[in-house]
Amino acid sequence: AEASLRQSHKMEAVGQLTGGIAHDFNNMLTGVIGAMDIMKRRLATGRTDDLPRFMDAAAASAQRAAGLTARLLAFSRRQSLDPRPIDVDALIASLEELLRRTINENIALRIVPGVDLPMAVADANQLESAILNLSINARDAMPDGGELTIESRAVELDAGYAATHPEVEPGRYVVIAITDTGVGMPAEVIEKVFDPFFTTKPIGQGTGLGLSMVYGFARQSGGQVRVHSQPGVGTTVSLYLRAGERVETGDDAGEAAVTPDGE
Ligand code: ADP
Repeated sequence: AEASLRQSHKMEAVGQLTGGIAHDFNNMLTGVIGAMDIMKRRLATGRTDDLPRFMDAAAASAQRAAGLTARLLAFSRRQSLDPRPIDVDALIASLEELLRRTINENIALRIVPGVDLPMAVADANQLESAILNLSINARDAMPDGGELTIESRAVELDAGYAATHPEVEPGRYVVIAITDTGVGMPAEVIEKVFDPFFTTKPIGQGTGLGLSMVYGFARQSGGQVRVHSQPGVGTTVSLYLRAGERVETGDDAGEAAVTPDGE
């Protein structure tokens, strides 16, 4: 099964995200307004003994709202992109140590670098956190151990492919495929994996934001994310990024660097 979302889905995802936050924020404001309303009535009737309790409640609600805006600001700052040509295999190699410490000992890590891999045009920090996010998902899918493979390769998406995938510009892409031999996902989960806040993990363990952030990053970089999964067999999440300049200046030095669309 495959999930490859379109631009409209991204807007939907962003809408759900902001909608969810607006809903929470509204609840907090309702808390403040409600407490103030009660205080006003208490003052009118002279029952002022429990005013401090309602003042505290209003303050706590306002504090939660302030915390939410702070998190939202941090989140939007994280989203700012600085796309540059990246040597993807070098970036993956620099993460190897951290990845080994992040996954459990019963998981074998296999890194398969690409052959003649072009540079990918993306934000290096965002790419790093995308790879970590996907690896953590892979780890969580293999509680009894297994194999995590991180593989890179170049692909050409031609005009024929782009015609059936309107979100894709034809051209060269660097693909980073993260494969696990874990529990896999049924179709109804694959359909929702990019939805913000969708998680099947216990409360406190999953935020449901990992894949939606990876998806947002890929789309903003002019790329995409595809998910292949089979219950009981495993999952491959493939991150497609626009190819730019080659790592080594070879015979195709005339190839122009690809500028990703979007902001
Ligand atoms: P989170 O990991 O916090 O739940 P994600 O957006 O990263 O949020 O993932 C959403 C859901 O997609 C997960 O809860 C899980 O059900 C499913 N999922 C993601 N990656 C994998 C994977 N490699 N194997 C199996 N299920 C996965």
